[in-house]
Amino acid sequence: MNSKLIIFDLDGTLTESKQPLTKEMAALLAQLLEKTKVAVISGGALAQFLKQVVAELPPHANLANLSLLPTSGAALYEYQNVDWKKIYEERLSEKEAHEIDAAIRAAAAETGLIDFSIPAYGERIEYRGGQVTLSALGQEAPLAEKKAWDPDHKKRRALQAAIAKRLPGYSVGVGGATSIDVTKRGVDKAYGVHKLCERLGLNESEALYVGDELAAGGNDEAVYKTGAKTRAVSGPEDTGRLIASLFS
Ligand SMILES: [Mg+2]
Repeated sequence: MNSKLIIFDLDGTLTESKQPLTKEMAALLAQLLEKTKVAVISGGALAQFLKQVVAELPPHANLANLSLLPTSGAALYEYQNVDWKKIYEERLSEKEAHEIDAAIRAAAAETGLIDFSIPAYGERIEYRGGQVTLSALGQEAPLAEKKAWDPDHKKRRALQAAIAKRLPGYSVGVGGATSIDVTKRGVDKAYGVHKLCERLGLNESEALYVGDELAAGGNDEAVYKTGAKTRAVSGPEDTGRLIASLFS
């Protein structure tokens, strides 16, 4: 194993969008945790990480080697004394969250891409502490509908631009298949990777980042600003093959 730290994106990389780890992936991650430090970074809140990843790992998994970076790196958690301890969180205030909410609604109206008068699958705008997330079809939308909504990224790019021009003090990025993530300015996956390596006392070049959206405009692209090595994958199966290859 050449890397001392392997950082995974979650949705589209370790799992399908908002789905739990498969048994195979959980076993591979547990094996990896025996040998090296592992981190997961994604736009979701901590609860989403616990549900999709931690709850699926086998009981013997070495959680001391696992770091969780919810809300696109706006927060970092470590496992200490049988609980997840917050190391930092770049929290948005309620006032900031309201400002972001208003900008999202104005951008949706301007682009005509989301009609808030039509009911969605759960909330469309969610305040996650360090991040506000717009989910065009709602938080609970079925995977197939989400995948069909914006296959060429055009809707998300238009929404991202319309939101960003209203919020110069924030970072506005494409999240998952239907989502836009807003954090404090400068807080993105690169920020999370910087903070994590600093915390673990590692050189960024000792880390490997694995993600399905490293291409231009993708939600892993920010990682190119760091010194971490990168590896693009096409989905969870590809990630599984990559992890298995790290053992040989
Ligand atoms: Mg992804």
